[in-house]
Amino acid sequence: MAHTSASPGALLRHVRKGRARSRAELVALTGASRNTISARVDQLIGANLLEEGGRGWSTGGRPPTILRFNSRAGCVLAVDLGVTSVDVAVTDLSAQVLATVGHPIDIADGPGPVLAEVDRLAQKVLADAGLTPADVRAVGVGVPGPVEFSTGRPSHPPIMPGWHDHPIPGAFGRYDCPVYVDNDVNVMALGEMGVTDSTDDVLVVKVGTGIGCGVIVEGRVYRGAQGSAGDIGHIYVAQPDDRTVLCRCGNENCLEAIAGGGALLRDALAAGLPVTSTRQVIELANHGDGPAVELVRNSGRTIGTVLAALVNFFNPHRIVMTGGVAQAGLPLLAGIRETVYRRSMPLAARSLEISVSDAPEMSGRVGAALMAIEGYLDEDAIHQALAR
Ligand SMILES: [Zn+2]
Repeated sequence: MAHTSASPGALLRHVRKGRARSRAELVALTGASRNTISARVDQLIGANLLEEGGRGWSTGGRPPTILRFNSRAGCVLAVDLGVTSVDVAVTDLSAQVLATVGHPIDIADGPGPVLAEVDRLAQKVLADAGLTPADVRAVGVGVPGPVEFSTGRPSHPPIMPGWHDHPIPGAFGRYDCPVYVDNDVNVMALGEMGVTDSTDDVLVVKVGTGIGCGVIVEGRVYRGAQGSAGDIGHIYVAQPDDRTVLCRCGNENCLEAIAGGGALLRDALAAGLPVTSTRQVIELANHGDGPAVELVRNSGRTIGTVLAALVNFFNPHRIVMTGGVAQAGLPLLAGIRETVYRRSMPLAARSLEISVSDAPEMSGRVGAALMAIEGYLDEDAIHQALAR
């Protein structure tokens, strides 16, 4: 078996992910010497990140002492910022939610008032969990728009007026810790992967008002050169009869302008259906209303043509559908499946699984927590923490 890194951060990760549970297993996994492993494990125990539990099975000699990750060595704040509401949670270092609170907001009020509300909720949720700002090790924030990940600044977000280039991490000055900001779809994708040690390639596709995709490569979020990877809502889709549909981005015939939640409502109104919201279109379709079923299924087929191309290009293990429209819409999923399996190459489609998220309402918070935890427990960060 190939040996893996034996840096303190890597050792911590091996224990956290369940790959090793004792010093002996860490030696076997990494190929490092027993002395090196013992010294680094002692450092991690000294930093309160690892703890010693009971004794495990032995194959001879003294039974090994079990090592455990101390997930209560601190907490993280997880912020799931939406267009009309915000949820703030505090979790331990294994993304276990300790307390959570939500509140309606209007993202268009701009960063000042919205982030002041987030600050208030964060203080409340910490108090609810019996924790203080000094316990917070990192903050994770998901926002409904494109973000330059390295700086935590939104970049021309179409549905967040006033937020362009605003330094969101600055709103968390009362916490002496790093702040990670990413777009909501990447964050939800992390939440879908959970704390497991998966190395799968996964597409997490959110269909709500807009359409976006979190790209998971070997278990990790792939952001691309500038952080805009997975922005599939603005991929061009050819239309029959040369119809052109203008998108809010200024281009014509973008996927979300043709098949997103807003498009669904527009087409339903044009067809004379008695609805005032996308949700009502979905409900009609789920009750078997013929024209509504056809509209929703058609949206699914259109989304499916783009996903089929992505499947041919990326060959994922799984596609997970999430977001308000995807969650509610069985005819949507049927349309997506129909097209993806018909249009993908057989080898890529053979064992491809297309499912709907199990816990879509929590994945934004859990994902934001995981983003913060992975940042805090990053190898370089551990190295620096131990050097102090
Ligand atoms: Zn567009």
